[in-house]
Amino acid sequence: MEYDILVNKEHLLNKDYVPENLVITDNNENNFHHYKDPTLKPMVVDIVYKAFLELQKEALKNGYVIIIDSGYRSSYYQEVIWNNIVKEKGIEYAQKYVMPPTSSEHQTGLAFDIAYLYNDTFIDDVKSTDKEFLWLKENAYKFGFILRYPLDKEYITGINFEPWHFRYVGVELSTYLYQENMCLEEYHLLKRKKL
Ligand SMILES: [Zn+2]
Repeated sequence: MEYDILVNKEHLLNKDYVPENLVITDNNENNFHHYKDPTLKPMVVDIVYKAFLELQKEALKNGYVIIIDSGYRSSYYQEVIWNNIVKEKGIEYAQKYVMPPTSSEHQTGLAFDIAYLYNDTFIDDVKSTDKEFLWLKENAYKFGFILRYPLDKEYITGINFEPWHFRYVGVELSTYLYQENMCLEEYHLLKRKKL
C-alpha cells in the first residue's frame, strides 16, 4: 500500500481489505474502543508503529506520555462503531463524527487516535488546547505523521476537527504537508492535476 493513500467518503476501501504487517501495540492500556473484546490492544502497520515509538520517545522527553488508543479497525468493526453511534446519537451526529464502514482510514492500519496520561489516567478526549496536542501539532510531522483532520480544513476533509487522530504518510510527505499547510485531500487534488 502507498503511504499517501486517500480514504474518505468518496474513496472507499474494499470491504475485505486488511493491511499486511499489522503489529500489536504495547500501550499498557486496553483499547478504549472495545465493543467486542476488552483485552484487544490496538494494532497498526509495523512501519507506523516503529515511527510512533520514536515520536512517543520524543514526546516523553518533553514530559508528555502518549499512547495509541485506537488503531486498525476492520470494516466490520467500523460498522459496529457506526451502528452504535447511530443508535446512541442519531444519524446526523454519526455523519459528522464517524466514518461509515470502508470509508475510515483506520482500516488502512496507517491511522490512529492517541490518548495521553493525565493524573494517572489516560485521556482520549483530546482537546485543541491540551499541551500534548499543541506539541504533536508542531512535531508529529518530523516522524512521518500528519494531523489528518485540522480545524482549518474542515470544509475540505468534510470531517470535524479531530485533535486526536493522526495518520502516517512518511517523513517526506508529512514534512511537505506541514510546510505547505495542506491536508491529504488537497495533496491528492494537486497530484491529479500534475498527472
Ligand atoms: Zn481516528
